[in-house]
Amino acid sequence: MAKKQLPIKEPSDNPEGKNMFGGKGFSWVYFLIIGLLLMQVFYTVMQPKPEEVSLSRFQRETLVNGDVDKIKIINKEVAEVYIKSEKLGQGMYAKIESGTEGPHIKVTIGSLENFEKMIAEAQKNGSDSQRFDLEYQERKDWMSDIMSWVLPFLLIIGIWIFFLNRMRPGGTGGMNPFDFGKSSAKAYKKETGSTTFSDVAGLEEVKVEVREIIDFLKKPERYTTLGAKIPKGVLLVGPPGTGKTLLAKAVAGEAGVPFYSMSGSEFVEMFVGVGASRVRDLFRKAKQSAPSIIFIDEIDAIGRSRGRAASFQSNDEKENTLNQLLTEMDGFEANAGVIVLGATNRSEILDRALLRPGRFDRQIFLDLPTLQERKAIFRVHTKPLKLARNFELETMSQQTPGFSGADIANICNEAALIAARKGKKSVGMQDFNDAIDRIVGGLENKTKIISDEEKKIVAYHEAGHATVSWYLPNADKLLKVSIVPRGKSLGAAWYLPEERSLYSKAQFEDRMCAALGGRVAEEVVFGEVTSGALDDLEKVTKQAYTMVAYYGLSKEIGNISFYDSTGQSENSFTKPFSEETAQRIDREVSKMVETAYKKTKSLLTKHRDELNKLAELLLDKEVVMKKDLELVFDVPEGKDKLVKT
Ligand code: ATP
Repeated sequence: MAKKQLPIKEPSDNPEGKNMFGGKGFSWVYFLIIGLLLMQVFYTVMQPKPEEVSLSRFQRETLVNGDVDKIKIINKEVAEVYIKSEKLGQGMYAKIESGTEGPHIKVTIGSLENFEKMIAEAQKNGSDSQRFDLEYQERKDWMSDIMSWVLPFLLIIGIWIFFLNRMRPGGTGGMNPFDFGKSSAKAYKKETGSTTFSDVAGLEEVKVEVREIIDFLKKPERYTTLGAKIPKGVLLVGPPGTGKTLLAKAVAGEAGVPFYSMSGSEFVEMFVGVGASRVRDLFRKAKQSAPSIIFIDEIDAIGRSRGRAASFQSNDEKENTLNQLLTEMDGFEANAGVIVLGATNRSEILDRALLRPGRFDRQIFLDLPTLQERKAIFRVHTKPLKLARNFELETMSQQTPGFSGADIANICNEAALIAARKGKKSVGMQDFNDAIDRIVGGLENKTKIISDEEKKIVAYHEAGHATVSWYLPNADKLLKVSIVPRGKSLGAAWYLPEERSLYSKAQFEDRMCAALGGRVAEEVVFGEVTSGALDDLEKVTKQAYTMVAYYGLSKEIGNISFYDSTGQSENSFTKPFSEETAQRIDREVSKMVETAYKKTKSLLTKHRDELNKLAELLLDKEVVMKKDLELVFDVPEGKDKLVKT
């Protein structure tokens, strides 16, 4: 499994993620908002606060007594009253020390006109000593005015930054908003515990190729003195889980040069221009620290052929990003010392401009592991496990054709989990077999309620598959038959497909018969068929169409293939053949399936006894292993229908 690698610090980069304000990430914005709020609170608190007095009390106790020294009417709303200094500290002003600067009390006046009338009345009736000045003042509260403007803006900016940050791939905070157009490439460096080539099992030829890339970067003179140009890009292509990312990590671990890793989807954002800007930024960083390697995982996310999905969705942004990538890889600017590693499952959908020499000059194909490679992968992934003595590496590797490295890693982990669940001290062969069953067939469905009648049908159905594949020379070898419900299925016959690249028509036909065995058994035994053969029929139909329309295995259609390796027909609604050809293909497919059905029926009628025996055994034991199968069926001389284990 991949080990953890720590990011390196780049001299050109802001090492601690500090922004221009010196704070980390966005915190300065929050500090600013909080600061302004605090200022507002401080300002309000620090203001001298005269006691608020009602208008009637003011008239009754202050005005009539001639305590007023001066009144300031503010904004025609409030009267700030200054009390004569000799009156302070007594009566209703007992709390106000004499000598305190005014205003000493505050009165909300209601109507200015009435207030003025009241003052005029008091002045008229009072003595001269009771006369005082009346001032009018318009006062602006700048602070609250500013706050009422600024706060909403700050709030909007804060929310905008928050969402911007969330939208960044993997962004959960701590990012400078001005980094939005920058690449979020992770930089790795060689250190102890890094993934190395020894963690990548098998793939020897691939490793040689990849090692050469490291060599190009470390000793470019060796190649350039002879006039050779260093390749700019290497594309790792292969089915899912074959170790492309693992291999790239190993390169990062071994290369000893800066390694920038980014996933294709991380470039593309809902904002136009961001992808292109991220590509530019990624290459700028890589060039600054050249020699260096850029790794773009799942490159099909941006490298998809231009104009392909144009009719369904707007892909302008993707095109811009791809154009920038094309320019960076082989544009006007020299890319000295930067090699781009790309990984994809589907090189056929990539833009052809991306694949031409000068960009991804090399394509390395990682196929599903061979027997020897599977052995090596099992070795790597069983190393951390506590294995029981009965563990057989050879058997496990034989039983897993078509499994990818990721599947094998999963089996090993699942086996350990199963052993732990059972309270075992070590992981044994049975745990591995259970892990395979679980991964291939799904979780055992113990609570599924099946009637006896259904169980009988399932037993005959599975026995049908097993009997047919036993007696047909080209069908896959049988491993075991089970009627334990798993996942969605009620039972299964487990085969061990032969590892081969070429299949003949006879081999395809025998496989079709084996797949039809279940349904035919139902018909032969019960006289009617059920819906249980859905998966089998789907498989058989697809197989027949592939044989006729792709592999040219039907005489009627001839040596014609409608297969489209570019994948471009995926989005098109029109078929690449005429209506008449379509009908001929349909007829051929029906004929092919019908012939296979008849062949299967005659075979099962002939071997009805064995079919019955196996079905009974299944009903009794639920799982029938290879050694019991040998007891049910006769073993033709020289014929090995079972897996050698
Ligand atoms: P995808 O195309 O789906 O991204 P991938 O080819 O990049 O898949 P990886 O992520 O490299 O696959 O592999 C997944 C896991 O499978 C690895 O972490 C590793 O545990 C295991 N694995 C795959 N191939 C190998 C191998 N050759 N040796 C050891 N482990 C392997």
